[in-house]
Amino acid sequence: MTFSALGLSAPLIKAIGDQNYAKPYPIQEKAIPAILQGRDILGISKTGSGKTASYALPILELFQKSKNKRDRHVRALVIVPTRELAVQVSDVFKAFCKHLPERIKTMAVYGGVSINPQMINLHNTDVLIATPGRLLDLIDNKAIHLADVEVLVLDEADKMLDLGFEEEITKILALLPAKRQNILFSATLSNNINDIQANLLNNPLTIEI
Ligand code: AMP
Repeated sequence: MTFSALGLSAPLIKAIGDQNYAKPYPIQEKAIPAILQGRDILGISKTGSGKTASYALPILELFQKSKNKRDRHVRALVIVPTRELAVQVSDVFKAFCKHLPERIKTMAVYGGVSINPQMINLHNTDVLIATPGRLLDLIDNKAIHLADVEVLVLDEADKMLDLGFEEEITKILALLPAKRQNILFSATLSNNINDIQANLLNNPLTIEI
């Protein structure tokens, strides 16, 4: 199996080559075509499986194919539990954007640092990677418009619950448009995660790696 056969086009294939990925990991073989088809995904998998590329690549492919109807609004919202993961995921998106003809702006926002530079830099962000608390702060400050989000990713959802972010996530979800694609990754499928996925996901493809 090759990345091209999964439906990714030349600029992404080139960026994948820059990363020295020889071939897709199993999670990528399953997730990439399904996300390109617009399906919701429930991924039960751990860090190290290649889960980040499994959603970053098809999201970027979709965004290249259909231009934003309205500029300056977040199109993909990736919610993560920690600052470290926010930076990591944002680095993955940025690396894959390198050769795209249409500029796609990725930004990570997280707590523990001053909010002002984040507010200023948010302008024109297409892919926003955020920790829940800081995201709500930015929403309260009217610094983010989420009405045009097309894809939502909850990454390490079990860890977000462990850290007590359930209420924040519920508040954020209420601000998103109803019609959107949803992707949820969790290392384990606990009862709590099962409740969340049942509410959030619409006929998802379940991938367990
Ligand atoms: P993740 O599970 O997304 O944190 O990825 C774990 C590690 O695997 C990261 O260092 C990625 O750069 C790497 N990786 C992801 N997909 C591939 C691939 N298809 N081939 C080689 N390395 C990969």
